[in-house]
Amino acid sequence: MASYEKIVVSAGLEMCQRSLTVGTWGNISCRNPETGEIYLTPSGIDYKKIKQEDIVVFNRDGKVIRGDKKPSIENQLHLKIYEAREDVNAIIHTHAVYSGAFAITGEKIPPVSEDFVQIVGDSVRCADYALPGTKELALNAVKALGDRKAVLLLNHGTVCVGEDMDEAFKVCDVVEKTARLYIYSRFIGEPRLIPDDDIKAMQEFVKNSYGQDK
Ligand SMILES: [Zn+2]
Repeated sequence: MASYEKIVVSAGLEMCQRSLTVGTWGNISCRNPETGEIYLTPSGIDYKKIKQEDIVVFNRDGKVIRGDKKPSIENQLHLKIYEAREDVNAIIHTHAVYSGAFAITGEKIPPVSEDFVQIVGDSVRCADYALPGTKELALNAVKALGDRKAVLLLNHGTVCVGEDMDEAFKVCDVVEKTARLYIYSRFIGEPRLIPDDDIKAMQEFVKNSYGQDK
């Protein structure tokens, strides 16, 4: 199995390839569920140049235990989400375009497609504004995230989470696709929102019956 450092380095390259950010913006982390250690991208280094030894490792108390680079300025955002959500072991903070449009208006991404309600939640909400890199931004994000898989940061970007890095990327894909579809659908008509009861039914189905028998 790949080391956690390697998972974060590869995810940085993938985020760039998928055009989910620009330059050195955005940041990525994962957590080893057995030790509670958190592996985070360093601050301001080109994703193509980040090496495994540049990844900053925090222990479960939020202290840096390995790595001599400065961690991403959004380290509080990552640490507070892990603290609040035991089910989350990977976080991708993007500066993506379509979900970013919602982060600029402060409007939530509503439940308009089945993959979105099954994987991400009943909506993606926008956290109250706070300056980048602050504890206030981290706490606002945790509050607006709730038990969902993504949250928007007002005038800033998007945060997607998952039980592992693959799931966090899947959430990024579905959030971007849904944001894009919703914007397009508003050009041609009035989007229909999926009713609450149907959201619950679809979420139950995915939890209990979807895919091959285990
Ligand atoms: Zn950012």
